Amino acid sequence: MKLTAIFAILIFSFNTLAQREHGVRPTETGGPLKFEQAVFDVLDYDVALNVDPRAKTIAGTTTMTARTVIPTNTIMLDLDGAMTITKLTDGRGDLKYEHKDGKIWIWFPMTKQVGDEIKTVITYSGSPKVAPNPPWIGGIMWAKTPSGADWISVALQNDGADLIFPCKDHPSDKPATASMHITVPDPLIAVGPGKYVGVKKAANGTSTHSWRMTNPIANYSIVFNAAPYKLIEDQVATVAGGTIPLKFYILPENFDKGAKLVEETKKYNAFFEKYLGPYPFRSQKLGIVETPHLGMEHSTAIAYGNKYKFAPDGFDSLMFHEYGHEWWANLVTASDWRDFWIHEGFQSFMDTLWFEESKGKEAYFTAMKARAKGFRNMQPVAPREPKIAYQVYMAEPDYLKSDGDIYGKGAYVLHTLRYLIGDGAFFRALRRMAYPTKEMETWTDGRQARLVNTDDFLTIAEAESKMELDWFFEMYLRQPKLPKLVAAQEGGILNLRWETPNNMPFPMPIDIEVAGKIQRVEIKDGGKVVVAATEAPSVVVDPKGWVLRQH
Ligand SMILES: [Zn+2]
Repeated sequence: MKLTAIFAILIFSFNTLAQREHGVRPTETGGPLKFEQAVFDVLDYDVALNVDPRAKTIAGTTTMTARTVIPTNTIMLDLDGAMTITKLTDGRGDLKYEHKDGKIWIWFPMTKQVGDEIKTVITYSGSPKVAPNPPWIGGIMWAKTPSGADWISVALQNDGADLIFPCKDHPSDKPATASMHITVPDPLIAVGPGKYVGVKKAANGTSTHSWRMTNPIANYSIVFNAAPYKLIEDQVATVAGGTIPLKFYILPENFDKGAKLVEETKKYNAFFEKYLGPYPFRSQKLGIVETPHLGMEHSTAIAYGNKYKFAPDGFDSLMFHEYGHEWWANLVTASDWRDFWIHEGFQSFMDTLWFEESKGKEAYFTAMKARAKGFRNMQPVAPREPKIAYQVYMAEPDYLKSDGDIYGKGAYVLHTLRYLIGDGAFFRALRRMAYPTKEMETWTDGRQARLVNTDDFLTIAEAESKMELDWFFEMYLRQPKLPKLVAAQEGGILNLRWETPNNMPFPMPIDIEVAGKIQRVEIKDGGKVVVAATEAPSVVVDPKGWVLRQH
């Protein structure tokens, strides 16, 4: 059972890597923030779209409400070049604008002062980019259900939400609230983030489904899925007290399989709440939507496309992974894609921790060791300079294949940190990274959500461990190369020292097993282990595989 489950994870990662090789690199999202983006703070997006699966077009209006934070008469939004703007106003009168190279430059007649409201009402239409390799290289999907009905999906994390609506295409600005009004042909149901507001039927055989999310939400989660969904309604107990409404929008063909996934998700919720604190969006819903692509962590409407491939023990690795992103991505969000590993590395660590929880410590060690085989060590896990998403997610220099290190290496870095600072400090740090204070665990009005970076975690880990950890973060996250442990045995003494890139300091201890006994050896200025000289005992360096290093 253990091996099968681990094998399933390996296959999953391998497919993931293979499928990303596609010849089309994602479009740009994030990167250095332009001045004309930094001057305003988005409060709300209201996205109304008429979606026509026959013509494969979308047409609609997006209203952005924002607040001026630096005086300006110019702002810049992103909207993919496949879309054509027909009208752009401030809600009262036309605004001067230029839509060029996927950017909209908008000029106001008078300089907006700090605190002034900025409103743009943009009407547009077009044939949105079709996703060449969703969810990794994204866009819209015009798929069909097994019974031949339209099944429309959107995934664009690595590409930016500007493929379907005009927005400030940068992770540092999550609107406090967002609404979607999606018009689709009957009997399709369009599912979006937050709470279902209701449906308006039109005489022409279409219906408009409205959703409203009143917690901060990343742009790439402001998406919809549409199909003739059936709804499974349930509820999940939360450590915060009471229950969370669970809504699973499932294809009618798979309705019977839904109950099992719901029961699994309840287990995962208990696991994440135990280690990280309460489900962050319990004022909204716990949402799952069946999608034609593998999956994505769309907040309160998790995209699930794993086709109910449960492991023999019932585990659904995809559902588990995407649901965990409600903490690592949706509650705690990297303010720049350079810190993408806080989403994927932290969640990959949780994926591996689940083995410890469900099958014991040895299963955890085995699963973590299996991760180490795929590291590329070509680019830092957490570079310091601003990055567009694909520069971090994909491998240099052509960005067509996944780099992968933000997943597996990120998880392994946390594993090694766990060894260094011990379980007590480590799990306290993990929880404080999710919710810095106990009080924040009680908030559901949106204040619980935070934008973070790698240094935040350094601060928290140092505070919880009372150790200086700069050297650890520098070695494993800020540059790509791994340290090498050099061991030389002379008679009855084993001498250990670290060989590091640019002679970086690296006072990392390591476990040594001599004749079946494990001891932790400090290697501050070269470590020494006394081994019994008499009968050539077996010496194993780091038998459990705690420390990330070059082999
Ligand atoms: Zn992920």
